[in-house]
Amino acid sequence: MEPKWNGQFSCFDLVARTDKHSRTTVQLLDIEIGGNEFVVMAGPCAVESESQLMQTAEAVAEAGARILRGGAYKPRSSPYAFQGLGVEGLKLLRKAREATGLAIVTEVMSEQDVDVIAEYADIMQVGTRSMQNYSLLEALGHCGRPVLLKRGMTATLEELLQSAQVIAAAGNPDIILCERGIRTFETATRNTLDIAAVPVLKAVSHLPVIVDPSHAAGVRSLVPVLSRAAAVVGSDGLIVEVHPAPECALSDGNQSLTFGEFHHMMTDLQPYLDLLQDGRRFRPQLVAAGGAD
Ligand code: PEP
Ligand code: MN
Repeated sequence: MEPKWNGQFSCFDLVARTDKHSRTTVQLLDIEIGGNEFVVMAGPCAVESESQLMQTAEAVAEAGARILRGGAYKPRSSPYAFQGLGVEGLKLLRKAREATGLAIVTEVMSEQDVDVIAEYADIMQVGTRSMQNYSLLEALGHCGRPVLLKRGMTATLEELLQSAQVIAAAGNPDIILCERGIRTFETATRNTLDIAAVPVLKAVSHLPVIVDPSHAAGVRSLVPVLSRAAAVVGSDGLIVEVHPAPECALSDGNQSLTFGEFHHMMTDLQPYLDLLQDGRRFRPQLVAAGGAD
């Protein structure tokens, strides 16, 4: 371990990496996050309608995604923006899960919603604006589902791990960390993707780490290249926004990929995964079908 980090993270004893505990994987259905598969979560920013969600679910599953994302409860910066479909959105996510076999990740903003969201979701997403909502984190400690913990937009890695420790201390060891860009003085991108966060987190914590290139970039043209960067620095996967018609999206259309763009991105990623020592794959079935060997 880099001497600079000695002692800085070890106090978060439930999530810190040690010689004895260097890697945790989060298992759900037949998916192992943090293991040998590069796990891609993809879907719309927000669940908008049945046809939008079902079309997207089918397209991302076909391209190799394993988990469908889609917000039913949306934390919007403006109180006048679309706030999500709520329970109706959760029902649509369930329907998409049944139709495609994709697992579901969706955001929980309030501790009052934990039980209802846990009924529908396979992974509970904590958004950047909620990373330090400790009563929510504690409630997620006993929700019975893995948690995707996104980095607060102005949070240090120490603070991110502190929040992970709160969830683990409340009884839930199944936590996935997510680097989604932080706020800096740069304005060309929506946030600044802290790519170094990935190897640092992998060095100081045993938890899986994924990258959200969509919220980092804010523009769709950068999403594929940031995804490749994430793969080569050792990310365990991605969470990516995809929409059937991004120009009509009710939220985050500028950073959402079309189906075609997502498909291309996935195909282009495989050689980068092949370069890594452990030869990760999206999923064995695709390799068999495509003969990528
Ligand atoms: C989202 O995933 O749509 C989202 C709101 O992300 P973040 O919390 O990272 O802004
Ligand atoms: Mn979004």
